[in-house]
Amino acid sequence: MRSKLVAGNWKMHGGMAQNRLLLDLIVGGTRGLQGADCAVCVPFPYLSQVQSLLQDTHILWGAQNMSQHEKGAYTGEVSATMLTDFACRYVIVGHSERRALYGEDSLTVALKFKAAQSAGLLPILCVGETLEQREAGVTEQVIADQLDAVIGLLGVGALAKSVLAYEPVWAIGTGKTATPQQAQDVHAFIRNRVAEKDIEIATGLKILYGGSVKANNASELFSMTDIDGGLIGGASLIADEFIAICRAAQS
Ligand code: PEP
Repeated sequence: MRSKLVAGNWKMHGGMAQNRLLLDLIVGGTRGLQGADCAVCVPFPYLSQVQSLLQDTHILWGAQNMSQHEKGAYTGEVSATMLTDFACRYVIVGHSERRALYGEDSLTVALKFKAAQSAGLLPILCVGETLEQREAGVTEQVIADQLDAVIGLLGVGALAKSVLAYEPVWAIGTGKTATPQQAQDVHAFIRNRVAEKDIEIATGLKILYGGSVKANNASELFSMTDIDGGLIGGASLIADEFIAICRAAQS
């Protein structure tokens, strides 16, 4: 039985005072949660603060991006090893905003995935189709290509120490959510594709849904067979919303 995970993606939001307030409320509001882990993925400058606020709590933390390189002349970049200095558990790789706004292709994402694992981090690999792609009927092909970039580079075994997030691009930050059945169909497609290569890894693989998850739709989404929690953008910045989403993931 897979346990659930709810991970917040703060994106480029936050501030020292605001983070403290938000995290105090989240820690208090999710105390005693059963069968679900909660995490926040925060901007780099706040990792130190978040580490000190969360280190003795049940909330995990991570980053939203990292370099595929180990070290060197890469101005402005942050390596996986640097993230481990702040005890990060997770790092998001291949978020659609990184793919669309910063030109990250699937090979770069796969290299980041590899570098994250080499440093002992758990990558949260995002995959998802645009509205155009969904309407053209190529959703499965797009997801398969994004997934295969990692499997092709590292082998299916690499997925054992990772989390996947299916995030339809048309649902991110738009208020439009995939219906539970639409999301379930893609999650099942992903799990079956991995199962073709390794059933055990497929069975244990956490696949999160992301795209306008809110307190009022989380339970229904999380009740689907192949949805193992959520990657939460906007709602992760609102304590009551995020707490309710974490509670919806309880077993
Ligand atoms: C995200 O950016 O990962 C996301 C799912 O955002 P939102 O929940 O705001 O749609």
